[in-house]
Amino acid sequence: MAFRANYVKKGLALALALATALPLLGGCASQNKKMETSIFAMDTVMNLTFYGVDPEAALKGVQEELVAEIYSLEDKLSTTEEGSELYALNEQGQASLSPETAELLTQALELCELTHGALDITAYPAVLAWGFTTGDYRVPDQAELEQLAAGIDYTQLDVDPERCTARIPQGMAVDLGAVTKGYAGDRLARQLEQANITSALLDLGQSTIRVVGSKPDGSPWRIAVQDPAGEGYLGVVELTDLAVGTSGGYQRFFEQDGETYWHILDPDTAAPARSGLTSVTVVGPSGLVCDGLSTALFVMGLEEGTRFWRSHPELEVELLFVTEDGTLYVTPGMDGMFSLAQGYEDREVQVLQ
Ligand code: AMP
Ligand code: MG
Repeated sequence: MAFRANYVKKGLALALALATALPLLGGCASQNKKMETSIFAMDTVMNLTFYGVDPEAALKGVQEELVAEIYSLEDKLSTTEEGSELYALNEQGQASLSPETAELLTQALELCELTHGALDITAYPAVLAWGFTTGDYRVPDQAELEQLAAGIDYTQLDVDPERCTARIPQGMAVDLGAVTKGYAGDRLARQLEQANITSALLDLGQSTIRVVGSKPDGSPWRIAVQDPAGEGYLGVVELTDLAVGTSGGYQRFFEQDGETYWHILDPDTAAPARSGLTSVTVVGPSGLVCDGLSTALFVMGLEEGTRFWRSHPELEVELLFVTEDGTLYVTPGMDGMFSLAQGYEDREVQVLQ
């Protein structure tokens, strides 16, 4: 039976986004239903799919809650929407936060520290200067870049998770674009678990995915990894109950005078990170960590990124690096989950130790 995928912009009737339940799986249509919806949020298309055995009305209720949670996070965390908590923080230099924003800011700051600032959520003025938020792209000159780089410093951001407040010096600004989708996936997965849903594929857009359990038939979910140098898929990662995030220069970029400039910036230079990588994929139990680390490891590059991975076994992440010459480097755990796609069988895959 075919599915009718919905694609709605925020603001359209929620009901439209939710009219999707259909039975599946030969023979047990009344037992296991597939719920699927697509929404536009956080500047991307998100596809949320889960399977459940509850009555359809209850499953629709769960689906409604997932969509509401995403919009609620977007309302708090948008940097461009007046009225969001981050907007207030960036405009006024201080803000009262919801517990979710305080939690996310606190955890994002921990990742900034852990990565020694390769992830720096105060890079926003530089992101703006390059035009990545508006699409009015420009290349700042060297003096401007130096000034922007000097203003990127997550240690200046003060978050009080108890009082749910934050402060930032004038002229600085925060952007959680590198971690929000991963965090949203974690929250949605928790909602599904509380609703006793044990099979879900949450595609939060821009290669940020969270799976709950396995596919309804018990096999792992299969997640495609895009070829950063082409249109197709390099390979597939098989996952159960994990998150995956990929960052790459191909995801958002512009070209000027024969040069390509992408949206992942090196906080040391305020310019696009040129570390010799074209993409990094991170798999692990925390969507927030996978999302934030994929951005940070893209900045670090292969050698520093591998050292980081070796010294942080507690993060329980597995990595796939793709370098500019097209070689793939995988950690041993990733080697066990990853397989090359058809047409890419000849690609060199090196296992990191
Ligand atoms: P992602 O797509 O998850 O790799 O995140 C990239 C987004 O995070 C960009 O669009 C910027 O808004 C922001 N960003 C860019 N560079 C950095 C960085 N080094 N640290 C933190 N956020 C960044
Ligand atoms: Mg990220």
